[in-house]
Amino acid sequence: MYIRGRIVKDKFLTFSVKAYEIELEKDIMPKPGQFVMLWVPGVGEIPLSVAQYIGNRLMELVIAKVGKVTTYIHEKFKSGTRVFIRGPYGNGFTVLKKAKCLIVAGGCGLAPMLYLIDKLIEQKCTVDVVLGFKTRYDVFYVDRFKELGRRVLITTEDGSMGVKGTAVDGMIRLLEEQEYDMVYTCGKELMMVSVVKECLKRGIRVEASLERYMKCGIGICGSCVLDPLGLRVCKDGPVFSGEILSKVEDFGKYWRNPDGSKRALS
Ligand SMILES: Cc1cc2nc3c(=O)[nH]c(=O)nc-3n(C[C@H](O)[C@H](O)[C@H](O)COP(=O)(O)OP(=O)(O)OC[C@H]3O[C@@H](n4cnc5c(N)ncnc54)[C@H](O)[C@@H]3O)c2cc1C
Repeated sequence: MYIRGRIVKDKFLTFSVKAYEIELEKDIMPKPGQFVMLWVPGVGEIPLSVAQYIGNRLMELVIAKVGKVTTYIHEKFKSGTRVFIRGPYGNGFTVLKKAKCLIVAGGCGLAPMLYLIDKLIEQKCTVDVVLGFKTRYDVFYVDRFKELGRRVLITTEDGSMGVKGTAVDGMIRLLEEQEYDMVYTCGKELMMVSVVKECLKRGIRVEASLERYMKCGIGICGSCVLDPLGLRVCKDGPVFSGEILSKVEDFGKYWRNPDGSKRALS
């Protein structure tokens, strides 16, 4: 059953990333880290994290232009466009109370983290943030994280903004200075592999949000299954604990094509 909505605002965050504010016909009350399936009739349907959810049925999505559906959205969707979504789906992040938390996000992995930081602050957590980008031209959302985070460290791979290096370098720097109860991460999978390894090595709780090709989004089709545990990213995830990921052989290595066959993760 689809929920209808209407775009009320759209803006470029970077050359290839846009934010869309959508007014839904009904309240969906998502948890941070959950996603929706956005259906574009005649084009396709894709999973997207809820980037922000501000009562009054207002949801923000952040969409990077990568292929068929996302290019269509970038080119055709504007204020007033009608949209159709299913969800919210998946498990979402564990929102701790009065805890010391660290968010480590890279590129479009920032999308679910804005809503997460909001909810962590509501629960009286202190939250530090590491945001990693390739260059300063890829940077977005920094001001919004600065409004909420205690400390926000920006890294760029070419050093054109913030500290030169990766989000993992930034995370290690903060872990050396400070103790945390939980690290939350989302971004390129190889980055998350390093984040999870580093946290497990130091005995810090960690949760990562994974991406896989998804068709149904509700645990039936099997296109997002992780070997060897048979976990479905859409239903059992997309958020997994570090302990679980340490047993998932596919993590950081394999991904499934639309026909279910496996290919190496690039
Ligand atoms: C739980 C979840 C949450 C997501 N949240 C966001 C979000 O908030 N913002 C956002 O921009 N993207 C998000 N994605 C990724 C997004 O769904 C894909 O970028 C999108 O499906 C690509 O569709 P397309 O038709 O434009 O690309 P396609 O034409 O299908 O593919 C173009 C390229 O993108 C790759 N691709 C396809 N599907 C995915 C995927 N699921 N993840 C990564 N790469 C993919 C393909 O391998 C190919 O290289 C999320 C994915 C998941 C699983």
